[in-house]
Amino acid sequence: SQRLLDVTIRAFKDSGRIFGVTYDMTRIAQLEKLQNDFVGNVSHELKTPITSLIGFTETLLDGAKDDPQTLESFLKIMQKDAYRLQSLVQEIIQTSKNTDVNYVTTSVNVADLANKIVDDYAAVIQEKHLNVIITGPEELVFNTKIELFKPICKNLIENAIHYASSEGKIDITFYQENDHLIFSVQDDGIGIKQQEQERIFERFYRVDKARSRNSGGNGLGLAIVKDYSEILGGKVQIDSYPGVGSTFTVTLPSL
Ligand code: ADP
Repeated sequence: SQRLLDVTIRAFKDSGRIFGVTYDMTRIAQLEKLQNDFVGNVSHELKTPITSLIGFTETLLDGAKDDPQTLESFLKIMQKDAYRLQSLVQEIIQTSKNTDVNYVTTSVNVADLANKIVDDYAAVIQEKHLNVIITGPEELVFNTKIELFKPICKNLIENAIHYASSEGKIDITFYQENDHLIFSVQDDGIGIKQQEQERIFERFYRVDKARSRNSGGNGLGLAIVKDYSEILGGKVQIDSYPGVGSTFTVTLPSL
């Protein structure tokens, strides 16, 4: 059992999180299960694009490269796999950062940040004919850790764009109340059933695995939103109805 304890503590240190040392074996066993699930999920997620990359490389080397059209279409698939691996690795690093000590507090103009994030998705927004509206005081400056605040906003906006119906409307709203920032993202997309609403914040949990995979998701986005909101001393709330849409609201204290 000492070995189990050592392994568990080492595993959590490796993942960048230092947990209080506990000798409660039930808790240790639970942590080990969480860690095993996480490793299992990560390996599973990594395997798919890697298997695809190997398969396409081998086929190209076996002669398929001599046909320019095949070459081009295979390279495009391989590029997609590589991007998928890149974003997965980035998000895994994000979910295991020792986040509370490293970052300094700065003043963030929320309207500018929201506009910048939306601009990054201009191509998808245009393709899906979405109407994205940002509402909030242009001059609002919020004191926070940008390295944590930006991924929160980015993941919520990205989800709204992914899960919105075509020609849908997305409302990004923010305002300050006392010492808190209220930042919410509303879409009129597919919505989420009541019984799924708690689970979607778990790492790697996806309501519809096939559809999420097609849209490039990996089930880490909302886990990052929840973790980072809590590290910043805030919380995230969901209000969602299937077929009507979802609203995610983050409430964060000014630092
Ligand atoms: P993903 O990368 O799959 O989007 P997330 O952690 O961001 O992972 O979200 C987890 C799951 O929650 C998604 O797979 C999806 O099923 C559901 N979800 C998240 N945001 C929305 C939304 N705005 N509308 C509907 N479903 C959503």
